[in-house]
Amino acid sequence: MGSNIDLRKYQDVSAIEDAFGKILSGKSGYKPIIERRVDPVKCECGTIIPGDKKFCPTCGKKAERKPTSTKCVKCGNFFEENDVFCGECGAKRE
Ligand SMILES: [Zn+2]
Ligand SMILES: [Zn+2]
Repeated sequence: MGSNIDLRKYQDVSAIEDAFGKILSGKSGYKPIIERRVDPVKCECGTIIPGDKKFCPTCGKKAERKPTSTKCVKCGNFFEENDVFCGECGAKRE
């Protein structure tokens, strides 16, 4: 064929974030938070339940998620990876 549009470059998440950042801020390198991080959780039956699933696909049990450590307990702001203090309220990360 040779006329297919190459979509592979759109699978690069950092490229997409960078593109969003340029739109939102007018400059490169700004990283908007476009989705909340939800960690996978292990079910009692041993199945790893992906972060976007609420129930175990193997046994149907509800996924028990503890509050994520990436979220500020005071104001609910999401921490960036290396943040020690909350950028919104100044609370220390737990
Ligand atoms: Zn299960
Ligand atoms: Zn906070």
